[in-house]
Amino acid sequence: MDIIREMKKKVLETTLVSYDEGLFAGTSGNLSMCDPQREVVAITPSSIRYETMSEDDIMIIKMDGTVLEGAHRPSSEWRMHTAILRQRKDIGAVVHTHSPYATSFAVVGTPVPLILIEMLGFLGGDIPVADFELPGSLELGLSALNVLKNRNSCLLSNHGVLTIGSTIEQAHIRAVYVEDAAKIYSLALQAGSVRLVPEEAARKMRARLGISE
Ligand SMILES: [Zn+2]
Repeated sequence: MDIIREMKKKVLETTLVSYDEGLFAGTSGNLSMCDPQREVVAITPSSIRYETMSEDDIMIIKMDGTVLEGAHRPSSEWRMHTAILRQRKDIGAVVHTHSPYATSFAVVGTPVPLILIEMLGFLGGDIPVADFELPGSLELGLSALNVLKNRNSCLLSNHGVLTIGSTIEQAHIRAVYVEDAAKIYSLALQAGSVRLVPEEAARKMRARLGISE
């Protein structure tokens, strides 16, 4: 199977799983991955219903947005995706969702602090909030990049969630963990006073995982 076909298949499969998991509704949410040479990007199309989406609906674009394959427009957030893929050579995929618990913290502008030990392994630590920028803008990607240092996920102010990964599967599972952590944080806030992962334990875990604060 050629690389383009494989990329379209992976983007479609991960998109449909994410939709079934409720990570986004309607035609919102968008996912992308680049090829190993970092020349082309497979990205979800703009405004196509997930129920009927097929591999051929996945758009192939260049990093500058030029459409190479596909009969639709690429996601309106292609500038955000390519800004991140251009700058972060260590990652190969970007997932953007509007998952409700996490997006509620994006609306109030509160980071999800380090409340679960698994957040270190999957997300690199807490879930920071990127400054507000307009949807569809390059600046949205740049504001996310600002807070994605030593982190694999962030909240986009008044908008949603962004995760990155070396593969699209990894970026997707991180989006699942962002929603899980946000849901637990939301419930914990109602249950009592929240205790963070003890600093000493977090330090030891970071050393074990080889990640920086
Ligand atoms: Zn969005």
